[in-house]
This record gives sequence, structure tokens and C-alpha cells, in this order.
Amino acid sequence: MTTRKDFIKMATLGTTALSFGKLNAFSSPVENNDPVNKPIVLSTWAHGIPANEAAWKVLSAGGRALDAVEMGVKVPEADPNVHSVGYGGLPDRDGRVTLDACIMDENDNCGSVAFLENIMHPISVARLVMEKTPHIMLVGEGAQQFALSNGFKKENLLTADAEKSWKEWLKTSEYKPIINIENHDTIGMIALDKQGNLSGACTTSGLSYKMHGRVGDSPIIGAGLYVDNEIGAATATGVGEEVIRIVGCHLVVELMRQGHTPEEACRLAVERIAKKKPAKSKEIQVGFLALNKKGEYGSYCLQKGFNYGVYSNSISNKLFDGKSYY
Ligand code: ASP
Repeated sequence: MTTRKDFIKMATLGTTALSFGKLNAFSSPVENNDPVNKPIVLSTWAHGIPANEAAWKVLSAGGRALDAVEMGVKVPEADPNVHSVGYGGLPDRDGRVTLDACIMDENDNCGSVAFLENIMHPISVARLVMEKTPHIMLVGEGAQQFALSNGFKKENLLTADAEKSWKEWLKTSEYKPIINIENHDTIGMIALDKQGNLSGACTTSGLSYKMHGRVGDSPIIGAGLYVDNEIGAATATGVGEEVIRIVGCHLVVELMRQGHTPEEACRLAVERIAKKKPAKSKEIQVGFLALNKKGEYGSYCLQKGFNYGVYSNSISNKLFDGKSYY
């Protein structure tokens, strides 16, 4: 393991490029040897590709990472064909689409909404909570009232497709919420801008067919998202209950603080879940994605199948498979 101390020692010896190679040994893919690989944006799953595209427009023009991540995740939020985020998201077991989202900037400011209904862009409401209130989190009706009083429109987010899937599910589900590998896919996005500042956003309709009122990790600062501008940023996807249990993204950032590469930090967090719940962890998916202050990144997940999109100066918006524990 390359510790932070080793890195500082190597950098002091003037071997920055060499140390960069070493720090990247566990990251895939390895990027160029620039002292800082910026700007860069990463996001979870294939719907991260169009989201990265929108974020890159902001980043490449010298914009703020905070604006980039908000613009980025708004793309899948508004896409009716993405069934795990915003409009078109699969509903809870009562047929209601309830949304969770949070955002965090380079100054430790953060905002969050949970159990929010009928608002297309929960991420923008989360940002307003951050910027306009003394609070961090608003939920349910209170979050909706706040959104409406700030000019957001009430909209029906349950598409015909999503309603059809829910009705199919009702036939066999015996009205029990099922947590498995397939019924979720949050977008988490983390970015480093030209100024060297980090921000992140995370937004989801949560586990499909969840119990009414269930909130996952995605709007919980420290669980589904965490940003520390000194160290790095992390976001999570998968079964939120297991991510909350280990305060996943805060853990990943703290592991990076101790000197671990982004991929190692994600792997150690995944291993913690696997060790705490060996049997359960075989049946569920959890994936972490992390980015450090130098623009190095990595990911790790429980099961094969998690992927993430990268857009940087040298990687023009490509999807990579996360390494997996199983
Ligand atoms: N983490 C989300 C949740 O538990 C689901 C997901 O990532 O797909 O609500």
C-alpha cells in the first residue's frame, strides 16, 4: 500500500510522475501524468454518460464543479427512459414515485431532500435547501412545499411504462418490498473543476417497489455522497440500507485521507459490508465511486455489473467496469 507519507516523501524527492504511477496502481484506467488531472467528472452507471456530457460543458468552460454536477444529474432526472431516477422512476409498492437527492460543494455546504413527490428535479431543490435555508435536509410534504414556494412545478412523475411495470410487479410480489441486484440504479456524480475544487450530487427514485416512506442512502450526506475538498469525493449506489450502516461515502473519503488510493478506499468499504453481512452481501449490489484531489479515481462493488462513466481531458466520456468483490 502506498501511504500518504510515502507519497509526500516521493513528491518531495521530485518524483511526482513516478509516485503518480504508483498511486494509480490500483485505479483503472490509469490517466496521464499531469500533476493534477482536472477537470474531470465521474458518474455511476450508463445513464452517467449523457449526464457527464452536460457536466463537461460546464467544467470545460471553467465552470464550478457544483454547477457541473447539478446540470449533469438533471439529465437522467428528466429522462422518462431512466427508471431509477426522477421522472419515469419506478414507484414504491403503493405506486407512488418518491425521490431522494443530495448535493455537496467544496466548502462543506450541503443540501438534501428525501421522500419528495411530484417534483422533476429534486437535485435543484436540494441545492436550494443548501443555499437558501439554515438546514441541510427537508423531507416529504415540507420539501414539496419549499419547492413549490420557490417556483418548482408539481408534475406527475409516474409514466405509463413505470405504472405498467408496477402493476406487473404487484401480481407476483405479494406486496412485499424486494431488494435485489436489479431493482435500483442511482446516479451519483463527483467532479473536480479547473480551479481544483470538488463537488458531488446524488439523485434517485430509490429501490423500486420499496415501502412507502422508505428513504435510502442517496440523500444522506456521508452515506450516498461525501465531499471533503482537502481530500476527495465519493458516491454510492446499490442497496442503501447497507451503505448507511457503514456510512459508506464518508468512510471512503476518510480512507483516502489515510493515504489509500480511490480504488483501495472503495474496496475496503465494500469489504466491510461483505464481512459484516457475508450471506446477504452475496445477493445484493453496492458500488462505490471515488475521486481524489489530484483527479485520480477508482471504484469497487460487491457484484460484477457495476459500471461508471469518466469524462476528462484524456478520456472522452467512456464507461468502465468497476472491479468486484465477488
Ligand atoms: N442507493 C439507492 C437506494 O438505496 C438505490 C440505488 O443506488 O440504486 O435508494
